[in-house]
Amino acid sequence: QVLNELLDLKGNIRVFCRIRPVTLGENFGHLRPVVALDSSNIHLKLADNKTKSYSFDKVFHPGSSQDEVFSEVEPVIKSVLDGYNACIFAYGQTGTGKTFSMEGTPDSPGIVPRVIEALLKLAVDSNHAFLITFSMLEIYLGNLKDLLVPQPTKPTDPLPPWSWTIHFSSKGPKGNWSLKVITSNQIAMSSHTKFETFHLSVVPVSMIRISITCFDAPERRRETNKIWLVDLGGSERVMKTKAWGRRLDEGKAINLSLSALGNVINALQRKKCYIPYRNSKLTQVLRDSLGEDSKTLMLVHVSPEEEDLCETISSLNFATKVR
Ligand code: ADP
Ligand code: MG
Repeated sequence: QVLNELLDLKGNIRVFCRIRPVTLGENFGHLRPVVALDSSNIHLKLADNKTKSYSFDKVFHPGSSQDEVFSEVEPVIKSVLDGYNACIFAYGQTGTGKTFSMEGTPDSPGIVPRVIEALLKLAVDSNHAFLITFSMLEIYLGNLKDLLVPQPTKPTDPLPPWSWTIHFSSKGPKGNWSLKVITSNQIAMSSHTKFETFHLSVVPVSMIRISITCFDAPERRRETNKIWLVDLGGSERVMKTKAWGRRLDEGKAINLSLSALGNVINALQRKKCYIPYRNSKLTQVLRDSLGEDSKTLMLVHVSPEEEDLCETISSLNFATKVR
């Protein structure tokens, strides 16, 4: 409760910045234009020795680990069990580490598998019965695709249930349940000798919804809250990418939904009476998880490379606008 009051004092939206390390094959000799000054400021080296600084709630420098990132994400997960909805977004130019932060790698798991594991653990430890539901969506060219529904071969084919649910109760002796998150789309659960693996999806995922309902037995109170984990499309400005054809259409659609998201968050921050949720599919889907009783965490990713400077400035300006 105290934690949530602290979060409330800081506002419902927090913006973090993560600087990607220089990867093998990149030119080490180049001047690196993005430097982390401390844990909340970053510094851009521009031409003519000019510099520009930006402040965030938190800055992760290139050496920051997935553990460090997750420790800053954890309060958001606790607030989901305390009755808030939440969204965690990864924003940034293609190649800056959005998927690395969200999904991670088997050796270095990211936010998604850790959130699932932490939610299940908090639920089990709480001694109430919980129902946890997952959804996985992709927005492509402005159309919503449910990734848990195999595409029907004929329009008349019946559709399978649209989401996977895991029912479990922590009632009974502790230690009966063991949960292991293998990747964001595979969860293994064991109860006594029975062991089941849930394959939630086999494709890369853009948006995961996790909803959690607590059945508070004595009072029969029932509350559902959800957290969205979103790996946004690359933020590079489409006019500069020399894309054409389908790639151009994809880029335009992504740019439109990112600016719609920015406008919604900006309107919420300024407590405007009209919030333009209806301008994109993304903001329509997230509508009840963006706003007063919600926690939003925007993780903006930037490249350390000089040649990406324009995109870096554009991402940092976006991040400043939503803050
Ligand atoms: P995006 O999803 O933004 O296009 P990726 O997550 O695919 O970018 O990252 C591009 C490459 O950089 C990948 O090979 C990824 O493993 C690597 N990478 C990104 N961020 C980090 C990091 N913080 N530490 C180590 N490797 C990283
Ligand atoms: Mg990616």
